[in-house]
Amino acid sequence: MPVSRHTGTEARSTNAGRRRRILSESEALPCLRDVIARTRRLVFFGGAGVSTASGIPDFRSGNGLYRRETDGPDPEIILSKTFFYLHPEAFFDYYRSHLLFPDARPNAAHAWLYEMEKQDVLRGIVTQNIDGLHRKAGNRRVYEIHGSVHENACMDCGASYPMETILKSEGIPRCARCGGVIRPSVVLYGEAPDRYVCIGACREISGADTLIVAGTSLTVEPAASFLDYFGGKDLVVINRTPTPADRRAGLVIRGDVTRVLGALSEE
Ligand SMILES: [Zn+2]
Repeated sequence: MPVSRHTGTEARSTNAGRRRRILSESEALPCLRDVIARTRRLVFFGGAGVSTASGIPDFRSGNGLYRRETDGPDPEIILSKTFFYLHPEAFFDYYRSHLLFPDARPNAAHAWLYEMEKQDVLRGIVTQNIDGLHRKAGNRRVYEIHGSVHENACMDCGASYPMETILKSEGIPRCARCGGVIRPSVVLYGEAPDRYVCIGACREISGADTLIVAGTSLTVEPAASFLDYFGGKDLVVINRTPTPADRRAGLVIRGDVTRVLGALSEE
C-alpha cells in the first residue's frame, strides 16, 4: 500500500519534559518502527478510521453514512434503546441498510494486527467498531466494547443467530424456535457496554508497554477514559485529526491508520 507524500512536520513541542513528536505518515514510519521493535506487550485501541478502508463509513464524521440524510429522526435517535423498544420495525429497517456490510473485508491495518498477534507482540485489540473485521482477519484477543453485528440472540430463549439471519429478515427478525425478537448484540445509545468486556479491555491496556490509539477522535465514552489505565512507556496516536490523547502521546501521526500500518507490513 502506498505511503502518502511527505507533508512536513506540523508541530513539535515538549510535554512535561518529554519530547512529543507530531509527524506526517512518511516521516513517522522510522519512529513507529523503533517503537514496535522495542515493544513486548502491544495493545491496539481502534475506532471507525480502522474500517473506513474496508468500505464501512465513519459513524460520526461529516462523511459518514450515519449523518442525517432525510427529515426522519437522527441516527443517534434511531440507534437508541428507547427507539428500539418503541419502533422495532423502523429500527431494523435502518439497521439492515446502514450497519450491515456483508461484503466488507479486513484491510491492511487488520492484517498487520493479525501478524502482530501471531508473533505474540500484540496482546489485545480494543475496538469501538461493531463490524467484526478484526476477528475475520484472524485475531482472537479482541474486545468489542460496542458489541458486534455478528452476534445476535433471541430476546426470549437466547438462541443465537448469525448476521445473515438479520440481513435476510423482513420487518422484525423472529426466532425460528420460539418467535421471540432476535436482537443484535450491539450497544445502543442509552445502553452501557458489557462490563466484562470493559474490564478485560482495561486490564489489557493497564498491562501494555505500548498502546496505539488509531482511527478514533476519542469522543465516545466510556471508551475514551480507558486510556487512563495506560501506564506504559509508549503512547502512539494515529489519526487524521487531533485527539484529546495527543498531548499525552510520545508520537502522534497525522494520517490514515490503514496506510501507516500497511506500510509497516511492507518492510
Ligand atoms: Zn427464541
